[in-house]
Amino acid sequence: MGKPFVKRRLHLKPVVWKSIRQDIELSVLSAVFFGLCAAFIISAYDAGVTLLYTSVNGYGLWYLALSFVAVLIIQDAYFYFIHRAFHHPLFFKWLHYGHHRSGDPTPWTSFAFDLPEAIIQGLFFVGIVFLIPLHFITLIAALMTMTVWAVFTHLGFELFPSQFFPQWFGRWFIGSTHHAIHHHKYRVHYGLYFTFWDKLLGTQDSNYERIPNQKISNH
Ligand SMILES: [Zn+2]
Ligand SMILES: [Zn+2]
Repeated sequence: MGKPFVKRRLHLKPVVWKSIRQDIELSVLSAVFFGLCAAFIISAYDAGVTLLYTSVNGYGLWYLALSFVAVLIIQDAYFYFIHRAFHHPLFFKWLHYGHHRSGDPTPWTSFAFDLPEAIIQGLFFVGIVFLIPLHFITLIAALMTMTVWAVFTHLGFELFPSQFFPQWFGRWFIGSTHHAIHHHKYRVHYGLYFTFWDKLLGTQDSNYERIPNQKISNH
């Protein structure tokens, strides 16, 4: 048996409503900018200058899956390096403070970005449609994955018992606990979907992989 649901919460302190309100304000601002990005992408598609396409036969079915995985891998790398840069003392205050202002994350923190951060995040999707051929379905699937993943990693509790996923999954994919540690410690766990860059570049908390194992062996 896994831990009861209430014991899987990761917050050290009670959630503060003022923080949630601030997160919502930033999220609305970010959403307005992301809407502008979407409008730009559609206009560029209409002008025929993007690599977006609409016919599944264009590159074949296998390419839909391949390009979807490619977008996630490229976005994960992009996010890791910009996120690490955001935490540099020169940039943190005006680029990334908004996302960390609430301390413990809640789902409302998922898209709580200062406007400069929202611009840098949005530029990824504005840029990717000029770099690799993407079907509209692939683009929408990547956007949905990003949204669901962001909410999942900012839940503030573990949605699933530790035994729900196989151990290798927890080692290579980022979940609520992994990202909550980033919100507590700042100096570790900069990745978005995968732990690959954190492991490779030594920014994974040294206790992270031992904690889930201990949980499993205790039950
Ligand atoms: Zn976060
Ligand atoms: Zn951060």
